[in-house]
Amino acid sequence: MPGTRQGGRRRSYAPDVPPSPLRPHLSDLLAAAHVVTLPMRLRFRGVTEREAVLIQGPRGWAEWAPFPEYDDRDAARWLAAAVELGWGEVPPPVRAEVGVNATVPALAAARVESVLARYDLAADPARRTAKVKVAEKGQVLADDVARVTEVRRVLGPLARIRVDANGAWSVDEAVEALTALAPLHLEYAEQPCTAVEELAELRVRLARAGVDVPVAADESIRRAEDPLRVAREHAADLVVVKVAPLGGVARALEIVDACGLPAVVSSALDTSVGLAAGVRLAAALPQLDHDCGLGTAALLAADVVPDPLLPLAGTLTTDRADAARQAVDPGRLTAYRSSAEREAWWRQRLTRAHALL
Ligand SMILES: [Mg+2]
Repeated sequence: MPGTRQGGRRRSYAPDVPPSPLRPHLSDLLAAAHVVTLPMRLRFRGVTEREAVLIQGPRGWAEWAPFPEYDDRDAARWLAAAVELGWGEVPPPVRAEVGVNATVPALAAARVESVLARYDLAADPARRTAKVKVAEKGQVLADDVARVTEVRRVLGPLARIRVDANGAWSVDEAVEALTALAPLHLEYAEQPCTAVEELAELRVRLARAGVDVPVAADESIRRAEDPLRVAREHAADLVVVKVAPLGGVARALEIVDACGLPAVVSSALDTSVGLAAGVRLAAALPQLDHDCGLGTAALLAADVVPDPLLPLAGTLTTDRADAARQAVDPGRLTAYRSSAEREAWWRQRLTRAHALL
């Protein structure tokens, strides 16, 4: 359960680019790389197009798509994840199915029902999970309460509802907001504040106030120099992990194990190929008690496979994930090929990231 900590399981961890036993030659990587620019349905992270590099390794397709503002060290970690998928061996699954959450953006409550209607949710109301964005700039707490209240009404009393503040609250604001939202029975609050110290302080204050909302760390794990700091400082009840930023499925499994906290697997605006890697991580976790944030294929208006990896009945399977990785369509790679200028930028970046592997 969130809130319990299995002390003593944490191991030392060097927060660097993971050592990869596999280091394909740069010329092989460059020859196997296809740079694409995919249109998105909505503006997200301030962009309307998603650039990605699809790489066909001897063990199948992989995606390398570190966000443009990330530095070369981050990009090398993402490359280690792509190399694991294309050249290596992904740790074996322990489950064939992974539950996936629906996502409700920071919209007016009146629009919640139509947003949720777009998702193919689990038939069993007790197996439905929604993530609701809160703490949006320009909105007030009453907007969040109204939105979450409406999600609870639409999904019913048995569904799990988590909120994601993307670090936007101060500790005081988070205490106030989560006190107001707690009667709606939250599964957890994701990254309520930015700093690890704030998350730790928030957990103490919520406990003292008798507010039962577990805290999940997301941004604190994926971009932090030391992903184990959250666990060491008792700053979270669970961790949100992503394959590419952590350097691959095997590395992410090690980090989750070293944290000793329950984990949720999430994606980062991935194509279906990147999502497939997320499914493989979720399927390989020894313990998985929460639905995962892997239902993001719908954010892209075009994908690199004919049949995007969208959840069916709130579920993704390893079979569908593996099939998606084999279904990369050369026609789409050509149709969405990036401009010569962007392609050159990505190839230079790939060269620099490879040097750091
Ligand atoms: Mg998040």
